[in-house]
Amino acid sequence: MAIWLKRGKDVDARAAADRQVRTIVEAILTDIEQRGDAAVRDLSIRFDQWDRDDFRLSPAEIEACKAELTDQDLADIEFAQSQVRNFAQKQRETMLDLEVETLPGVTLGHRHVPINAVGCYVPGGKYPLLASAHMSVLTAKVAGCPRVITCAPPFNGRPAPAIVAAQAMAGADEIYVLGGVQAIGAMAIGTASIDPVDMLVGPGNAFVAEAKRQLYGRVGIDLFAGPTETLVIADESVDGELCATDLLGQAEHGPTSPAILLTNSEKLARDTMAEIERLLAILPTADMARKSWADYGEVIVCESYEEMLAEADRIASEHVQVMTDRDMWFRDNLSNFGALFLGPRTNVAYGDKVIGTNHTLPTMKAARYTGGLWVGKFIKTCTWQTVTSDAASATIGEYGSRLSMLEGFVGHAEQANIRVRRYGSRNVPY
Ligand code: NAD
Repeated sequence: MAIWLKRGKDVDARAAADRQVRTIVEAILTDIEQRGDAAVRDLSIRFDQWDRDDFRLSPAEIEACKAELTDQDLADIEFAQSQVRNFAQKQRETMLDLEVETLPGVTLGHRHVPINAVGCYVPGGKYPLLASAHMSVLTAKVAGCPRVITCAPPFNGRPAPAIVAAQAMAGADEIYVLGGVQAIGAMAIGTASIDPVDMLVGPGNAFVAEAKRQLYGRVGIDLFAGPTETLVIADESVDGELCATDLLGQAEHGPTSPAILLTNSEKLARDTMAEIERLLAILPTADMARKSWADYGEVIVCESYEEMLAEADRIASEHVQVMTDRDMWFRDNLSNFGALFLGPRTNVAYGDKVIGTNHTLPTMKAARYTGGLWVGKFIKTCTWQTVTSDAASATIGEYGSRLSMLEGFVGHAEQANIRVRRYGSRNVPY
């Protein structure tokens, strides 16, 4: 049986704390619905101390942001974007259109159709998370979406130069400086100055995630991608310093970010806890990480690899870092995870920033039913059919007519039967 050396609040407790967020978000979205741009401007002043009646950046403002970055910064962003683009293009190539003759004279198929207008949120409250621009804007462009717009909050009272550069380099068609619910609401509902989109994507804090949830249906959303979570699965093939570094590297995201160690070694568990205390004393972002570790950090010691696997599937974490003698066994057998990081040579920061897999990933146990953002989320799989012989139309029509009558649908039955009469010269009696 697994033993907890340290327990945190369960993510279910985090969901309960979010009830207040739900009410706040509902009121903000109603305000945007009723007052449009005026509400967005007031909310921007209230939450981000950002006062501007034109939220969209001009080409000159975008160039000015890029000019603030060093050549090395720009080259680093270009490298990261080329990795994300390359992997997304390879994934796109696996999405084949389909055309198949299922019966003589019956051809069925599907076509992949990119979504027309997408709104990409790039978070920037606590840190200017420029990597999210590669993950959403660029991936939408690889998918072939014609209109890709993007919002990020101001950072320190002005547009964050690195975010704006990344948004532009990723190919965004419109760049707005707007944060939180007002950004999400404006993109989905539309205002006089922002045409509404068909789908919202991108990560964010609890307010952003809740706004996307409330708008789902009116627009599509990628997935529930709220505050970051990480799970490290480790055995004695690695040491406490590496595990502690990987836990704190994600705990620094914010005060409600769970970081969990799952191990079959009590020694590794205790070494990791000691290392965390040592690192918290020197980490510049320790204020954030200390709170999330205190409230949401967990250390679980299991008796076997099988038990570690079962616990990991129960936790269904956004990031799962595996550093064991059996990394590929975990890859092949885990069911519930946003993204896997296999072996000590890679880690979540590689995935978050540069390696090429997408960093917008499911949180709050959403990994039970979805993977992360990828090029396929921007594409609709739409089916089509055609019947090319009289005999096939009459045969399918006979089945269709009888099955419609079983459901009491006389009009449906007649749609089928008229074709049985025209193309088969017979009638299905009711
Ligand atoms: P953010 O851009 O998501 O949120 C900032 C905005 O929140 C502000 O612009 C403000 O408008 C709004 N806000 C703040 N307090 C508010 C309040 N009391 N009421 C209404 N609105 C309010 O930036 P952030 O806060 O730094 O959060 C980024 C989040 O994104 C982190 O939690 C991080 O873990 C998460 N993240 C998740 C993933 C993922 O894939 N799941 C990836 C990257 C980042």
